[in-house]
Parts: sequence; C-alpha cells; structure tokens
Amino acid sequence: MSRLIVVGAGVVGLTCAVRLLEAGHRVDVVARDLPLESTSAVAAAIWYPYRALPQDRVTAWSATSYAVFAALGAPEEYGGSPEAGVRMVEGTEVFTRRQGEPWWRAAVPGLDRETALPAGYVDGWTFTTPVVEMPVYLRWLTRRIDDLGGTVTRLNLRTLPEGADLVVNCSGLGSRLLGSDRTVVPVRGQVLYLEQVGLDRWWLDGAGPTYVVPRERDIVVGGTDQEGEWSRTPSPEGATDILERATRLVPELRGAKVLRQKVGLRPVRPAVRLERSGHVVHCYGHGGAGVTLSWGCAEDVVSLASNGSASDRDPARG
Ligand SMILES: Cc1cc2nc3c(=O)[nH]c(=O)nc-3n(C[C@H](O)[C@H](O)[C@H](O)COP(=O)(O)OP(=O)(O)OC[C@H]3O[C@@H](n4cnc5c(N)ncnc54)[C@H](O)[C@@H]3O)c2cc1C
Repeated sequence: MSRLIVVGAGVVGLTCAVRLLEAGHRVDVVARDLPLESTSAVAAAIWYPYRALPQDRVTAWSATSYAVFAALGAPEEYGGSPEAGVRMVEGTEVFTRRQGEPWWRAAVPGLDRETALPAGYVDGWTFTTPVVEMPVYLRWLTRRIDDLGGTVTRLNLRTLPEGADLVVNCSGLGSRLLGSDRTVVPVRGQVLYLEQVGLDRWWLDGAGPTYVVPRERDIVVGGTDQEGEWSRTPSPEGATDILERATRLVPELRGAKVLRQKVGLRPVRPAVRLERSGHVVHCYGHGGAGVTLSWGCAEDVVSLASNGSASDRDPARG
C-alpha cells in the first residue's frame, strides 16, 4: 500500500481517489475548493464528449465512464444506486446541416437518426445518455472516499506537495500554476436553472453551446463558450441570450421561472494531460467533458500509479 495525495476535489480528483482507494492505496485529497465549490459542481451535467481531445483517448475514456454511469443509473432492482444522482435520459442533438455519425460513436451503445426535429433543424441524433445531478453526485463521491478510508481536506497550494509516494494532479485550471502549464485555459460557461415544467428529454444544438438538460426538480439551460474569459459573475445579457436560444430549441420553456444562475470555467487544453512524470501523475485539462471522461481517466491513473511506482520514480527524489 502506498500513500497518495490527490490534488483537486472536482469530479476528476474525487473519481481518481475512489478508484485508487479501491485499488488498495491510502489516499488523501487536498483542494483549495471543496467539491461543491468546484467547477465540477456547475456542470449541466450530461455525458457528452465536448471540448476535449484527442479523439481516440476521449472516446475510450468516455465509453468506460458511460458504462459506470449506466450501472449507477440503473433501476435499484437491477443494482443501480439512486443516491448517486445519476439517471439515464433520452434526448436529441440537433443540427442545421446533414451530419455523419459523430466521432465518439463507439462510446455509446445506440444512436438513432431523428426525424421529428424542432423548427429550423434538418438532422439529429437521438440517444440515451447519463444525466448527473452534480451536487448530489459530488456528495456521493465524497461519501465513497470517506467509506473507503480516504480524506478530503481544504488546502490552497502554491506547488505540488512533497512527502507522498505519489501525487495525482487533478487541479484542472489550477494546473496553470501547479503544473506550470499555460496551455490550459478557461472557457467560461454560464448556465441558468429553470423551474421544472414537465420536461423529460434533453436537447443539444450541435452548432453551439445551447443545451437543455432536465433534472428531477429543475432544468439546466446553457450556455456560453468564452475562451480566455475569467469572470465567474453571471452576465444579464448572457442570461437573456441563453434563454432566447434555449426557448427556440425547446418552446415549452417559454415563461419558465429562472431559479438561479451560475458560471464555471472549463479547464480546456489542446489535449487532456494524463501521464506520469516521476512521482506525479498529471490528470487535467478535461475541458467541457470532465464528468464524461472521469471514470475512464481514473482507471488509467490507477494503472499509472500501480505500474510505475518504483522504476518511474524520479531518481533525484530518491
Ligand atoms: C457551464 C458548464 C457546463 C458543463 N457541462 C458539462 C457536462 O454536461 N458534461 C461534462 O462532462 N462536463 C461538463 N462541464 C465540464 C466539467 O465541469 C469540467 O470538465 C470538470 O468540472 C473538470 O473537472 P476537474 O475535477 O478537472 O476540475 P475542477 O472541478 O475545476 O476541480 C479542480 C480542483 O482543483 C483544485 N485546485 C486548483 N488549484 C489548486 C491549488 N493551487 N491548490 C489546491 N487545490 C487546487 C480546485 O480547488 C478544485 O478542487 C461543464 C462545465 C461548465 C463550466
């Protein structure tokens, strides 16, 4: 058993911690923002490989996560875990131009071309995908860590910690500092939470950041996709624009009450960084798909933690 420190308590850090604990490691998670304060808490969150590369690894990670979420979201009598806040929901991605199959096709079990489309769209794909109610799910992950003997502690770091056998860097956008990596940049996303008006399908406009995701008690509508923008304050103009686009996509939303708004900064990188360098495994840069990639990436982190523990260690560190 080795002692590991996971830096970051968003969906990526918590999921890695769960899998590492299950693999028999001793794991402590440290983070500046606790789970419900992280970007991950803002995610819509639908399984969908958005703004994350490279395509081959993203497809493989997404497929692994899909299977885990599908198991969690199964009916309780089939082994599902209703307390995790995951539901399998059918919905449609729509397009204003005819489309081939998406590049991530292999990651989902089924995909049907849709013919009943909203006005203005000429093509669409209907499929069932996990919808993850993030606050509920992040609490569930945190409880799993606790049950498995791990800890989650608030700590604002200036550098990656010393003294552990291995450090797993899941600091998302924080890797600009902790990984000295300026290629990870914020892509600002604003979302509104509307009252539930009886919607039971999700909708996604393939051309841009417009999506409508029904949850148990509310509906998440988005969004924006502003690269290099750091403001976490919701903008009133942004909200008006989001509502207009969402209502065009799903007219039943007209007149629905806005309950609250949030902004999150997606940690976008030219490619997700998942590799081992000496006594550090880096796992960050999941862009608009951190939830979607989380279980797949966590399994690779476990392999890197287990396979390279002695021989890959930086000789300078002893
Ligand atoms: C509006 C919006 C909608 C989204 N919708 C979806 C969706 O539908 N599906 C999907 O899959 N993804 C979605 N995403 C993307 C998803 O939220 C991110 O990819 C994901 O949250 C990244 O997770 P993370 O754990 O890497 O980062 P974060 O959640 O940002 O967590 C990073 C952690 O590192 C910690 N940290 C950083 N710096 C330091 C430091 N110096 N010291 C200590 N700790 C530090 C932070 O405090 C935090 O705990 C959405 C994002 C936004 C903004």
